[in-house]
Amino acid sequence: MILPATGRIAVYPSPNEAFQVHDYPIRPPNAMEALVKVSMSTICRSDIHSFQGHRPSPCPGLLGHEIVGRIVALGDGLTQDMQGSSLSIGDRITWSEYFIPCDNYFSEVLDLPQKSPGLEKYGHMAVTTEPHHHGGFAEYCDVLPKSWILRIPDDIFDCEAAPLNCGISTMVAVVEAANIRAGSTVVIQGLGLLGLYGAALAKARGASFVVGLDINATRRNLSAKFGVDLALDPSTNQDALLEKIKANCLPVGPDAVIEVCGVADVISLGIEIVRIGGTYVIAGLVSPGADVNFDANRIVKKMITLRGIHNYHPRHLIEALEFVKNTKSIYPLAELVDGFYSLDEVTQAMDDAATQRVLRAAIIP
Ligand SMILES: [Zn+2]
Repeated sequence: MILPATGRIAVYPSPNEAFQVHDYPIRPPNAMEALVKVSMSTICRSDIHSFQGHRPSPCPGLLGHEIVGRIVALGDGLTQDMQGSSLSIGDRITWSEYFIPCDNYFSEVLDLPQKSPGLEKYGHMAVTTEPHHHGGFAEYCDVLPKSWILRIPDDIFDCEAAPLNCGISTMVAVVEAANIRAGSTVVIQGLGLLGLYGAALAKARGASFVVGLDINATRRNLSAKFGVDLALDPSTNQDALLEKIKANCLPVGPDAVIEVCGVADVISLGIEIVRIGGTYVIAGLVSPGADVNFDANRIVKKMITLRGIHNYHPRHLIEALEFVKNTKSIYPLAELVDGFYSLDEVTQAMDDAATQRVLRAAIIP
């Protein structure tokens, strides 16, 4: 097959500045690489943080890491995905949001490849860094060695597949860390996209009751479709809130509390909500400066397990795909992607996503 000589990229020039579409040269894939034509790339909260300058990201850069696309060329040796399914030109795939330079102590001994030294992430590099095409807001993407690839079944829509490698996989890691099992009662702080995925995943694991907390009434109303049994406004009287949660998470309060709202001030409430001996997972505080003041004695006295989760292990990507396969007829996952934009409209998409005019914006190059 003749490869295109160049591909279009929506370049992120600097924070809060309009994206500019430019052509960059395409090279044939090296060994263990794949060249993919991007079908869809969804805008994640971290893309918005980069765009707004809240998160250091090299400029001029290429953003976008929730990507699904079709293989147009395969490098030597890349014959199957991480589950052993064969890979051919034309197959639709997604892949881990990160790739690592080599096996290392974190990946091989600690089983934390997502914390490997020298790890790079798609959609987080300077566009001048070769092979240029390493993010989602572009016509093509090079899937580089030491990424974890999954072939996407035909009956899964791009809208369902694109958020797999970030939002859904991260929440798979979170519900695993929260030790959610059949009969668990769960409280989720924040009913944005991660919270909705978290609720559905908790139910898929057998949770008997899920409470969602969010100050946004629209989000609370939507959450019933994703497995939230009771959605409450956390800004109401705290004693009444705690009482209502406890009355619904029998017999002694929620087994697990999950923070995905990204607001440090909610941590002390989360510690009060979780039952004695329960687990509290914090996953939304992804930016530094999340200082918080609480009485640590409550953690001791309540014997709480406190867990932080950042990104995910490659096994969570497999579980994320299985979750979508098994539950897409139960939960309207495709509806969560509700804004569609071309490569020339990335600035508009970013604005709409940042101001929450859309829940998840998708770029279709
Ligand atoms: Zn992301």
